Amino acid sequence: MTTASGTTEVSREPEGAREQAGFDEIHILWISEGMSCDGDTVSMTASGQPAIEDIVLGLIPGLPKAHLYNKVLSPSLGGEDFLVPFRAAAAGELSPFILVIEGSIPNQNIIEGDGYWTSFGNDLKTGEPLTLNWWIDRLAPKAWAVVAAGTCATYGGIHAMAGNPTGSMGLADYLGWDFRSQGALPIVNVPGCPIQPENFMETLTWLLYHAAGSAPPPPLDEMLRPQWLFGKTVHEGCDRAAYYEQADFAKDYNSPKCQVKVGCWGPVVNCNVPKRGWMGGLGGCPNVGGICIGCTMPGFPDTFMPFMDEPTGGSLSSSLIRPYGAFIRRMRAITSMAVNKEPKWRHNRPELTSGYDPHWRA
Ligand code: SF4
Ligand code: SF4
Repeated sequence: MTTASGTTEVSREPEGAREQAGFDEIHILWISEGMSCDGDTVSMTASGQPAIEDIVLGLIPGLPKAHLYNKVLSPSLGGEDFLVPFRAAAAGELSPFILVIEGSIPNQNIIEGDGYWTSFGNDLKTGEPLTLNWWIDRLAPKAWAVVAAGTCATYGGIHAMAGNPTGSMGLADYLGWDFRSQGALPIVNVPGCPIQPENFMETLTWLLYHAAGSAPPPPLDEMLRPQWLFGKTVHEGCDRAAYYEQADFAKDYNSPKCQVKVGCWGPVVNCNVPKRGWMGGLGGCPNVGGICIGCTMPGFPDTFMPFMDEPTGGSLSSSLIRPYGAFIRRMRAITSMAVNKEPKWRHNRPELTSGYDPHWRA
């Protein structure tokens, strides 16, 4: 299969028969050695609904027993001890497993034979580093499901921006957008820089229910994102959207008003963070004064730079809404004065003026 990286010879197709769901146990092999800051792993640990602990401790009814291998959460001593399940899976001796990749995939082909961009463990015979690409080539075709965690792994992210020397890309660019896992699933992309904690854990939980045979595959959009998480824009869930509707725009970052003129891309960005919050339902970029810079999007960061400049479309739409917003604001101010009064019959005089009729009785 042709990949964005060009010439690699390794087959991307699943090997052997496709595995059916209905597992009692499953392994989660999480490699964060892509080009990344490990922020997605850190973010995932903040999830409360569900927490990763709930899954690994088997506290959620109906899920298969999950064995998680993530270097931040691993009870192993690290080194070769940590690598045991990864080596077993690469050798076809561990199954079924979900492969989670964190970080973007560098293009090893552009420097083949002349070093490596990023690695995970060493070759036991030669002592040479094993590249991330080596692991993906061996694990992805054997995985029951493959998940890309974070914008770097999904679409390339910061490492893949214009002018980068590594040729970095997202997992689907590397494996092919038509890749199918052993569970007949496309790559599941959960973008975010970093992932919103519950967005990732909710997706993982859905996959685990599917692995148990009790849920259909998670519905994905054309960019392989979970539809129920990325189907709406930031703007549609933003605390400040009423200001936008009234054409009441912030001029600086110390304002509670709509930030479109100071660089917010929310109206065209697919992300549920303003609705969901960041940790425990709190926070969420525009809700707490941060402009949306489109960190979940396939074109991030180039498309949204320079950050803090007014988006091109924002200038047009905010101009168009200005006359409507100014009129509506004035009308609402008048109505607001009217509705901010108590009715006139609420008084302490000796007569009743509420309109009560003492003769009204059957
Ligand atoms: S701050 Fe951004 S997301 Fe919120 S209303 Fe304004 S443009 Fe929309
Ligand atoms: S609101 Fe914008 S900047 Fe914030 S997480 Fe979502 S896409 Fe990223």
